[in-house]
Amino acid sequence: MQRQTRPGGVSLDIWGTLLGSDPAFKPARNAMLRDAVAPHVPSDTFDAAMRQADRDVDDVCVRDGVDIGFGGRIEATLIALDLPVAGVSAQLPELYAAQEALALGHPPRPLHVKLPAAVSVLPMPVVLTSNTGMLPGELMRKLLALAGFGAVPGVFSNELGVAKPHPRLFGAACDLLGIPAADVLHVGDNPDADVAGARAAGMTTALVQPDGVSTLAVLEALL
Ligand SMILES: [Mg+2]
Repeated sequence: MQRQTRPGGVSLDIWGTLLGSDPAFKPARNAMLRDAVAPHVPSDTFDAAMRQADRDVDDVCVRDGVDIGFGGRIEATLIALDLPVAGVSAQLPELYAAQEALALGHPPRPLHVKLPAAVSVLPMPVVLTSNTGMLPGELMRKLLALAGFGAVPGVFSNELGVAKPHPRLFGAACDLLGIPAADVLHVGDNPDADVAGARAAGMTTALVQPDGVSTLAVLEALL
């Protein structure tokens, strides 16, 4: 951490900082999507295309600070498979509902069992500042409650239409905390989206490893 004094507020990244996926979720979600939009494509081909499209879209989001969500990522997968995207938008509500059921059945887990308690005892206001990808804020709030973070308010990229490192997402986090950026510590695992982005927005930063232990050490140092 850069700072010696305790910050007035804390902003926490979610994925790789607090939560990790249930290993059963993505295979089940991808199988559901394949059956619906590309049933003739072999599962391993579809999975590989989905993984690659997700990474490529994440790179665009971090490079340009734009949010690309559920529909955009399915379209990117179909484009990578050289399949038409025209019919997909009509299917999205049904596909989204199916994804939600699978996510609630295989919810993400805290990266360390002590993280929910460590967040809850922080002596300063806390906000979650997250690039949502396939799982929008509306669903994340339910998943965060299941993982023990339900009391913490969040700022979600799909709800603002911009993604970290865009300064507007960090500005919204500081507004929600009611604390100036210079007195807010942002904790995250992505050097570009979290560290460079939060610094550009005027915050101080702590870079963590996506192992949970690293985040726990940062939080315990704030007590
Ligand atoms: Mg992260």
